[in-house]
Amino acid sequence: MIDEKRLTQIKIDNDTTVSVIKSKLLSKFDDKIVHGFSTRLGGVSKDHLSSMNLSFSRGDERDNVLENHRRFAKALGYDEKKLVFSDQVHKDHIRICTEEDAGKGIIIESDIKETDGLMTEVKGLPLITFFADCVPLLFYAPDINTVAAVHSGWKGTFLRIGPKTVKLFRDRNADISKLICYIGPSICGGCYEIGPDTAENFMDFNDGIILRDNHNGKYNLSLQKAIRKTLIKEGMKEENIEISDICTACNSDILFSHRKTNGKRGNLAAVIMLKQ
Ligand SMILES: [Zn+2]
Repeated sequence: MIDEKRLTQIKIDNDTTVSVIKSKLLSKFDDKIVHGFSTRLGGVSKDHLSSMNLSFSRGDERDNVLENHRRFAKALGYDEKKLVFSDQVHKDHIRICTEEDAGKGIIIESDIKETDGLMTEVKGLPLITFFADCVPLLFYAPDINTVAAVHSGWKGTFLRIGPKTVKLFRDRNADISKLICYIGPSICGGCYEIGPDTAENFMDFNDGIILRDNHNGKYNLSLQKAIRKTLIKEGMKEENIEISDICTACNSDILFSHRKTNGKRGNLAAVIMLKQ
């Protein structure tokens, strides 16, 4: 069970408290950015979507999802009507978002398709990506004041969407030795068992720590450590990469886990925004 002290509890009105998870590294830049990862706590959705489902695609009532967004946004401090939604398909496309993208996916219909990563240098434009075991990556380049939110499941990790995001920061003249990455709450290596077909894609990580062969046709994969290794290979400093040790499957009472519930679940979200 997760220690309650690991959660940041934010009272948004007299009877509502929203629990969020914050990065220690990104919190050092609280004067420059807003960031956070949601939990199941503090929303209005029912049953297996209880209570803070942030996706319109999980069979929830639209009004519930909108109210959850209002609450999560109020807790973190951004305007939910300006959110830019990803369209996650386990690929490696990253979009550079502009002011014209504000509200796409929440109040206006979106032309953002097949996009697992969002990046922006626009202040006041919150980027959101969705999770229930897959790995959230939140990036901040302090020298060029630019942020990114990325979804990296095993396919995205195999396709190196994290390092590709780093390359985009480099293209924009960021000093990669200063780039920060938060690898957020997601399924841990102990819970994430995979078969040989998936493991085949990670044989270059077969070091017993990132990928462990259980010698029974099953393997355990730490996506978080695999991602960290690829980010360091791309030039990031180890001390600028934070891996959350909070597992979605180990804590499915307060976080949504696809594996733990056989897919009967809502979606968590990771948000990052440059402050005005
Ligand atoms: Zn776990």
